[in-house]
Amino acid sequence: MKADIAYVQERFREFNVRMFDGKLPEPPIAITNAKTYFGVCAFRKHRKWNGKLEYSDFRIRISRRFDLPQEEIDDTIIHEMIHYWIGLFSPVDMPGHSPLFRKMMADINERFGRHISVSHRLTPDQQEQAVDNRPKKHVVARVVLKDGRTGIKVIPCMERHIRRYRRGMMASGKVSSIEFFQTTDPFFNRFPSSSAFTVYFPDPDVLAQHL
Ligand SMILES: [Zn+2]
Repeated sequence: MKADIAYVQERFREFNVRMFDGKLPEPPIAITNAKTYFGVCAFRKHRKWNGKLEYSDFRIRISRRFDLPQEEIDDTIIHEMIHYWIGLFSPVDMPGHSPLFRKMMADINERFGRHISVSHRLTPDQQEQAVDNRPKKHVVARVVLKDGRTGIKVIPCMERHIRRYRRGMMASGKVSSIEFFQTTDPFFNRFPSSSAFTVYFPDPDVLAQHL
């Protein structure tokens, strides 16, 4: 299923009562289309007169980009609620997955039979879902290295980026040839588009289908 705002609000209220003693004031909740996270607890950070950090303006965002089992959506909501609780009531334990975060997570997992984790890593299937499949114009450099490997780099469609990339890569002394292609194949949307002097090495068989 994919989360929507009514669902997340309803679950928030329910978990707040069951797991957080109803102590969490309801924050703004937003549904996003983010591909880099399932959920996030955003906040503002400021330093107080005594040098301690204080957090405010909490917002919970849940991505609807991924089709996830309900259990996983619920675990994501609870995960973000733990961040929110710590930000409100124990700011010294912010940010990230501090020992307090892990302790609260383990308690909730045990008491309520949940499977909340600290990793937000996406499975290969989910990464596939996260790829934007709209055709976009790319310039793809096919880079053959002196060690025999062939890789690619996606470069913005601009003459100066293409020239800069060619110059930088040839200067590295590791490259035997570079060719440039123009394509709208969505396969290339998954690679960062820049003129950074890097090369990606996708599976050669997969690459052959797209070049
Ligand atoms: Zn987290």
